[in-house]
Amino acid sequence: MSESLLEKLYNPVDFQELGVTVLNQISNHLDLVVTNKNKKTIQWNEPAKELEFWEYFFENGKKEDLAAEILKHTTHIHNPKYLGHQVAATAPITLLTGMLSALLNNGMAVYEMGMSPSSIEKIVTDSICRKIGYGKDAAGFLTSGGTLANLTALLSARKAIVKHDVWNEGHTKPLGIMVCEEAHYCVDRAAKIMGLGEKGIIKIPSMENYSMDVAQLEKYYGSATSKGIEIFAIIGSAPSTATGAYDNLKAIAQFAHEKQIWFHVDGAHGGAAIYSEKYRHLLNGIEKADSVVIDGHKMMMMPAITTALLFKNTWHSQHTFNQKADYLLNDEEEEHWINSGKKTFECTKTMMCLHWFMLLKSYGEDIFDEFVTRQYDLARTFEALLIADPHFEIATSPQSNILCFRLVQKEKTSLELNLLNAKVRQALLEDGEYYIVQTKLRGIHYLRTTLMNPFTSMDHLKQLMDKIKSVAKTVV
Ligand SMILES: *Cc1c(COP(=O)(O)O)cnc(C)c1O
Repeated sequence: MSESLLEKLYNPVDFQELGVTVLNQISNHLDLVVTNKNKKTIQWNEPAKELEFWEYFFENGKKEDLAAEILKHTTHIHNPKYLGHQVAATAPITLLTGMLSALLNNGMAVYEMGMSPSSIEKIVTDSICRKIGYGKDAAGFLTSGGTLANLTALLSARKAIVKHDVWNEGHTKPLGIMVCEEAHYCVDRAAKIMGLGEKGIIKIPSMENYSMDVAQLEKYYGSATSKGIEIFAIIGSAPSTATGAYDNLKAIAQFAHEKQIWFHVDGAHGGAAIYSEKYRHLLNGIEKADSVVIDGHKMMMMPAITTALLFKNTWHSQHTFNQKADYLLNDEEEEHWINSGKKTFECTKTMMCLHWFMLLKSYGEDIFDEFVTRQYDLARTFEALLIADPHFEIATSPQSNILCFRLVQKEKTSLELNLLNAKVRQALLEDGEYYIVQTKLRGIHYLRTTLMNPFTSMDHLKQLMDKIKSVAKTVV
């Protein structure tokens, strides 16, 4: 009898054969890339050509070659010359936890469908709460991304602060939040989803160094409330995305306390600095936040997508999506760390807690200290190199591992300089040895680096500067 398609699909022997091949390819890839034997970080291809390649492969390629081709046609974050967007060069050990999660699919919406991940997630989130400096009432959960976590936190905030039950009864009056103009765009999006509209997003200007100008909080608050907007939350970025500037969390906490509004910290990128003895001070005041977001897939070396959302008060983590009014819930419903589907946007989610648990169990919190401290130190080294070279100018002194800088040439106008830096960045992309990104700050075009790779060295950065200077000569 021949095997049915389904029997073939689930055949463990076939799986092992293909699995060993792919695992070997992945290990080879890591070896080549981490040690930079692979010269290119990205083999740039125009979108139309890339699509054509995959259409051809779909019809004619061999499935044994799929993994190898995907490896070739993607951006290699594990290459120490990767200095681009804020995603982690995943710790290899988390590939294994990813596989376990994919196999078991215990999404833990209800406890029975995820006994171990429910327990493990509690252990992990409790340990993050302690690190934040929260007291014993704190708790949290893991969810799919900083974007979703920020939205969830703001929904919890609205439920906790606004007297009227908007979740169940809809809006009756204009509501608003306060956030620095430099904050990640997802805060804007969350506010719009919540129906606050443009007028409900009170944008606080940034200072010279791109962090929130807290001296203006009172003025903006007064102006919004005089227009009848009820402010229920303020968000501090730790740090904001474009420049990596940390807001003054202590001052924001004080303001939130005075106004009796929710204080949320978006630490998607740099919340992980709670683990760094050297840089923890950047987050002073975080322990006063009502809620905190930290991405595992950014500064904690985990695969996408896993985000911790932590609450100072467990109760707030439970009530966000309640269909009943809070006072109708009995004690039993209140105090439950299981059945995570009640607390999260997701019904089914991946067993993302396995990555956190595996890293903590195998290496302890020290691994996060070592990584964050190294990367933040490296940005300061890079800053010194750039300042010493008259061909370059930095946007602002780096507070995290994000650094924006640009090429400057005396005889050029600011418009010409913008064009030069844009062209240089495009040439670097097409060259592919390094991968860096770009951003516009107050009308100035900057090259933007995020030092995400644990093996990027000062030499790599020096070589990048030389490369940029030589590329600049070719783009005019
Ligand atoms: C990356 C980022 C986000 C979005 O998080 P995702 O996990 O990509 O959804 C939100 N806020 C800040 C400050 C970020 O850096």
